[in-house]
Amino acid sequence: MSNDKKNQVKYIPSRKEKFVNPYHFVSLEKNCTREAKKYREQKGNLTGWITCRMETLSPVFIPNTGSASEVDGKKHSDVFEKRVFKEKENKQVVINSYDFFSYTDLSKLKGEALKEYREPIIPGSEIRGMIRTAFEAVTNSCLSTIDNEQPLFKRVQTNGKAGRLIFEKGQWKIQPCERLGIAFKWTYGDKQDFSVKIKSLKEGQEVYIKRGDKYKTRKGFPAFTVVSAIKDAVDPYYEKGYFHRGEPFGKRKHHESVFVSTGAPDIPIDESSVKNYIESLRLYKNKNVNLHFKKNEKEHSGYKDIVIKDRELKDFDGSLIYFAKHNDHYYLCSAAIGREVFYNRLTDLIGDYAPCNQINNLCPACALFGIAGKESAASRVRFTDALVSDKRDKIEAYYHEVRILKELAGPKLSAAEFYLKKKPGNADLWNYDYAVNWRTHKYGIPGYIPEIRGRKFYWHHTDPDPYIAKDKEADPESVSDRNVAVRPLKENVFFQFKVYFNDITESELKRLLWILTIGAKKENAHKIGMGKPIGLGSVQVNVTEVNVRGISMTGDSVEYTVEDRLEQYKVFSEMTGKEVGCTGQVMEEYLFLTRLAHPFSGIIAYPSNVEEKENYKWFMANKMVKGTGPNPIIENSLPPLKDPELPKYELNPGK
Ligand SMILES: [Zn+2]
Repeated sequence: MSNDKKNQVKYIPSRKEKFVNPYHFVSLEKNCTREAKKYREQKGNLTGWITCRMETLSPVFIPNTGSASEVDGKKHSDVFEKRVFKEKENKQVVINSYDFFSYTDLSKLKGEALKEYREPIIPGSEIRGMIRTAFEAVTNSCLSTIDNEQPLFKRVQTNGKAGRLIFEKGQWKIQPCERLGIAFKWTYGDKQDFSVKIKSLKEGQEVYIKRGDKYKTRKGFPAFTVVSAIKDAVDPYYEKGYFHRGEPFGKRKHHESVFVSTGAPDIPIDESSVKNYIESLRLYKNKNVNLHFKKNEKEHSGYKDIVIKDRELKDFDGSLIYFAKHNDHYYLCSAAIGREVFYNRLTDLIGDYAPCNQINNLCPACALFGIAGKESAASRVRFTDALVSDKRDKIEAYYHEVRILKELAGPKLSAAEFYLKKKPGNADLWNYDYAVNWRTHKYGIPGYIPEIRGRKFYWHHTDPDPYIAKDKEADPESVSDRNVAVRPLKENVFFQFKVYFNDITESELKRLLWILTIGAKKENAHKIGMGKPIGLGSVQVNVTEVNVRGISMTGDSVEYTVEDRLEQYKVFSEMTGKEVGCTGQVMEEYLFLTRLAHPFSGIIAYPSNVEEKENYKWFMANKMVKGTGPNPIIENSLPPLKDPELPKYELNPGK
């Protein structure tokens, strides 16, 4: 890189500050293991129960959701004193607080009674979920919990082309347009101000305009012609156009838009493109996705003029859009630099690992844990709730004090650089639909097939620090209504639970024992409950009894016997990957990812930059080191499991 070029770069990777992403992946194999066997024949002859001891190895939190009530359509609870503080604009923020799970229905309690301590319970459903996930990974089973409803999307950095959506004779089309700017604010480049007129205009309204000069924009942004006169009524000396209201984005905005047809032929598109467009509008209105909308509705209204609710698809005829084309697909959005909703959903990418749906062809996990759906198979295992087994004098001895958790980011599937393998090698950018090389394949590398990295697991934190610093708890810069206050369990609390099994085979029992205890390995553990990415939830399970029921006939009476076979089954800890049900590589990855201690030194934390704590800024910087605004290049994808450290980025001091 020449010095000149280097000086233009905004971010550079930090030499000193590194981090390890909170999650990594256990690989998928080529195909999911499934056995074509009649459902009845899958059953074995072992019935009984396993008694387990569980120890917490980090703070653990499972919310008593019974304590939550609906406030403003949001789950809210005030188990503890409300932590109210004022934001700059005198806006009061109340954060939700949750007690640990117990058998007490907190919804009927008020005030001081809520603050009392209750004996903690770890619900069987939580343990079951935790064990099933692990079981699936090491038995090469399907991805049973994949969320296929969730649309996959990404932000784009490139300006889309302007267009108008038309529905004519059952066919959707894009009418290519030119985007003109209409000033609502005086600037040096355009000394007009149509702010009063603009207030009266509706989204998509037909207008008549005259063209003014070209507006000079910053480098990398397309120049546009400004409107010099505008009318509502038809005028033969004026050009017909359509008014489009954008969203304020930063401080630079000074023009709204008028779209004028370029006269180029309409582009026929599929209905699925229109559906994806509506999905992208939905994302703008989703506060978990649109952070500008979340922070302040003045900053971004989520395109409030564009209504989605109660509108049929055909009602979107006439919508003003920006569009891009990659490979054979069109991507429509209401902003020039917006979001693209992908055509692929997760199940399109996982192929054979899609959840089982035929009871006569089940993976090992579905065969044991059951499936629900058109065809359903009953579960042959049942997990009881875990109750504390080390009785302590005072119940509060099980708990840490109430603390505010650091903010938890939702599962960011949009981070394709983490979820997908980098493929092909020459891709500058890749995602769930297409890959791009800016020099050779600007609109999509042909033959690209996205491939997910595998099954997601969270690292154990060696020295968890999941809380907001105490002296920052009332600081509006550090805490928002997205934080929650919790009363977590302490480390080294012991619980007991049972796993009842019914008609399972010997091999299923051995696998179950191996997975519950992770091969009885002291250095490995499971994760349960809330806050896994920030260091909560490490637990270890030990098996203390394996009781198998037998029936014997003495004379004409039937006798039930119970035999503890723990000693006999102790060999289960020696099982190899192959015996458990996966390749050696998968087993190695699973054992590496579930280790309590790590051979790497980097702190486990959500991606962030040096002195910039916002998660998304790292992803932004990660595309700006080698790339430019309109041509982003992914610098780092998720590194190999064994060497998972990533650099933070820092602002280039040379700039
Ligand atoms: Zn399955």
